Amino acid sequence: RYPVGGATPRAVRDAVDAGLRECPLPPAQDLDAYLRAGGYRALATLDRNDALARLEASGLRGLGGAGFPAVRKWRAVAAQPGPRALVVNADEGEPGTFKDRHCLETAPHRMIEGMLIAAAAAGCDECWIYLRDEYAGVRALLERELAALRGHPALAGLRLPAIHLRRGAGAYICGEESALIESIEGKRGMPRLRPPYVAQVGLFGRPTLVHNVETLDRVAAILSEPADAGGSPDGSAFAAHGRRGRRGLRLFSVSGRVRQPGVKRAPAGITLRELIDEHCGGMAEGHELYGYLPGGASGGILPASLADLPLDFDTLQPHGSFIGSAAIVVLSQHDRARDVAVNLMDFFRHESCGQCTPCRAGTAKAAELLRAPDWDGALLEDLSAAMADASICGLGQAAPNPVRAVIRWFPQELEGPGGQGPNASPRGGEGRP
Ligand code: SF4
Repeated sequence: RYPVGGATPRAVRDAVDAGLRECPLPPAQDLDAYLRAGGYRALATLDRNDALARLEASGLRGLGGAGFPAVRKWRAVAAQPGPRALVVNADEGEPGTFKDRHCLETAPHRMIEGMLIAAAAAGCDECWIYLRDEYAGVRALLERELAALRGHPALAGLRLPAIHLRRGAGAYICGEESALIESIEGKRGMPRLRPPYVAQVGLFGRPTLVHNVETLDRVAAILSEPADAGGSPDGSAFAAHGRRGRRGLRLFSVSGRVRQPGVKRAPAGITLRELIDEHCGGMAEGHELYGYLPGGASGGILPASLADLPLDFDTLQPHGSFIGSAAIVVLSQHDRARDVAVNLMDFFRHESCGQCTPCRAGTAKAAELLRAPDWDGALLEDLSAAMADASICGLGQAAPNPVRAVIRWFPQELEGPGGQGPNASPRGGEGRP
């Protein structure tokens, strides 16, 4: 493993770079192809007020996890005194999430154009892309395309800000925006106490706009469509694509017991059952839906009986879950939610930055308690409440979600001697799947 924050050891970097030279790059749309398709026209003709109005009308929210309205972030940063910075969070580390990689491997310039539009609208002078280091192919691709962008005659009239590409160092916590900023600054990736928020005091003390890759990809797609376009799945008709009153399209990373896992572009507000049936070819042979993780490691676990809930912001909270980065992991009768919870608590314990006691000690204690054959529900709930209420950042606050989900939605797995309920694992609950 690489250390938290800071530089990746040179030997590891050299080995990755040597391997990379042997590998073909992802077959992405390059700059010339993007320009031929009308790319960078939205940036070249940008009218800030019009862009803000159109994005506001689209209802675009941050698609990295928190779901904060994109335009409100822009306005908050623009209201602060300059110089300002823009940071792209491409440190896609949520278990089960791989949609940002898909965006970058297919159409990197759409994200880059979205980034440049956001930077211009919010008045940011410099852009930083913080990329998950495991995405070595994407890094090589971005290096090539950013170099092409700087020298291309078709863009000579545009005043582009400086763009820096930074490699992550393998820490899950560096997906948290303030920890990510600390890492870019060369420090250990540990979340900051707020306020001040990063929109006020962020990278190198500057007001900073932080956006996820998919959000910026959508910014460019929405603003590239004619304002009155209708029906395009990628355009300003974005808002028309939601179901059940939700707006827009989003990418779902689907894995687990389905016939066709992968990245699926589907309407916001789609249910799990619809997503599996319409986009994933149904459940895998021999598997029946038992439960699902709607938001990767952090978003809790829901039972099959809740497969008809809209998968969108705000709809899952009453059930102790959230959609987050839309990493959907589908479980079948061959899985146990209890095993998933044990696995995830080990993950959180390992990835805790250790800065605050409720998370550092709480995840370790919970991982120990979850290994008991019979769970102590009252003690686990006390511990979960302390972690959720008193941890500094989302990692410690969300770590108890899977445990609470098992107690609430899968009580049958805790019944019987030694908790040997249905779907019992022959390994006695040791992290399956
Ligand atoms: Fe670090 Fe966990 Fe505290 Fe977040 S909650 S600051 S990851 S110790």
